[in-house]
Amino acid sequence: MFESLSDRLGNVFDSLRGRGALKEDEVRAAMREVRIALLEADVALPVVRRFIDKVTEAAIGQEVLRSVTPGQQVVKIVNDALVEMLGGEDGAAQAKLDLEAKPPVIVMMVGLQGSGKTTSTAKIAKRLKETEGKKVLMASLDVNRPAAQEQLAVLGEQAGVATLPIIAGQQPVEIANRAMQAAKLQSFDVLMLDTAGRLHVDEALMAEMKAVAAVATPKEVLLVVDALTGQDAVNVAQSFTGEVPLTGVVLTRMDGDARGGAALSMRAVTGKPIKFAGTGEKLDAIEPFVPSRVANRILGMGDIVSMVEKAAASVKEEDAERLAKKMAAGKFDLDDLRMQLQQMTKMGGLGAIAGMMPGMKKAKAAMAQSGMDDRVLLRMDAIISSMTAKERANPALLNAKRKKRVASGSGTQVQDVNKVLKMHQEMSKAMKQIKKMGGLKGLGALFG
Ligand code: GDP
Repeated sequence: MFESLSDRLGNVFDSLRGRGALKEDEVRAAMREVRIALLEADVALPVVRRFIDKVTEAAIGQEVLRSVTPGQQVVKIVNDALVEMLGGEDGAAQAKLDLEAKPPVIVMMVGLQGSGKTTSTAKIAKRLKETEGKKVLMASLDVNRPAAQEQLAVLGEQAGVATLPIIAGQQPVEIANRAMQAAKLQSFDVLMLDTAGRLHVDEALMAEMKAVAAVATPKEVLLVVDALTGQDAVNVAQSFTGEVPLTGVVLTRMDGDARGGAALSMRAVTGKPIKFAGTGEKLDAIEPFVPSRVANRILGMGDIVSMVEKAAASVKEEDAERLAKKMAAGKFDLDDLRMQLQQMTKMGGLGAIAGMMPGMKKAKAAMAQSGMDDRVLLRMDAIISSMTAKERANPALLNAKRKKRVASGSGTQVQDVNKVLKMHQEMSKAMKQIKKMGGLKGLGALFG
């Protein structure tokens, strides 16, 4: 997935390296690829359409940063739009429940059976108790599933949160009334109502939810959906929207390998913020929903996004220009190599760089296997620093004797010095090839 979207975008933009602004036909071609990626990430089709229209409009005519390729720039634009659509950067504020009301404030949890509703009820209750010092009472209104009420009682014990004593035979609305009374009498701050689920959305379920919402007038109604169910989650959200006054969404099983598309669909279909992400079975496995993290997951290209950001922040233009000129003249010496190494260190080291480059996953794995890590960058820097200026400008001077001197000067072995020289040779060769393909502009785009 990671390879394919970036590679596809690479194909769309290959002829465009170093160009100024994004042109309409190319943006449209790129968006066809983004569209496939979103569908593969399980985003609902109508949501994909709306999203693509919006982003296409925004992208056309945008200037391409000097230091990145147009494909990378498009990834960044798409990513930013995703983050925006998922609720913006401020995840922590988004996750906050609105509990500003006369206690007991009622939080109603709704969703299908198996979505993680009961677990999420206990997780949120525990969180409210521990992070906000709230006194919380939980009550299960699920009279369908055998032992649902007992399950909540067990979780309550584990979480150190009170649960309403079970009275067999009571119906959901009766239980809700009893819970409200108990919460009031025992001065609880928050009452969490865990409602019944069904295997599928049906009329009886909706009628029950409406009846409970009518008597409890909850301040928050959180829809719990399983991120792994993709398209089904969208249908569930659609059914609940309009029937009960939803205020937010809890997306469970984000610890699984869901691509996260459900999040985008959820947000689009309900128009409500995703407040929490469930990240495991344990009771503290719940987090505020972080849009940027989920955008990364949907696109699978977070690394490129951060590369664009870092490139914009850390690469100096003069350096790039100087380098581009030297390369155009067919000169790339060890001073230049050292500059590149230092730049790599600044950008987060080898692993980060390899992860950022489209199609570099394999190289990264190979590097890890050979034990190549950031210490290698430092060692290479030390080796080059132990050479004289003349040697750096003209590596051919480095005969066996000089190599020995450089090795001992940098506390390394001659074979390490050879590795640096070999890397320099290969980079020079690669650069000559790039020069043939794209000329000075192409180089600017690569190294700018
Ligand atoms: P309910 O029928 O909607 O009340 O669902 P439950 O709360 O009983 O959860 C069903 C199963 O999903 C249980 O085994 C939970 O431990 C598990 N579960 C709930 N939330 C998560 C989550 O965020 N991640 C994972 N991995 N499992 C979860």
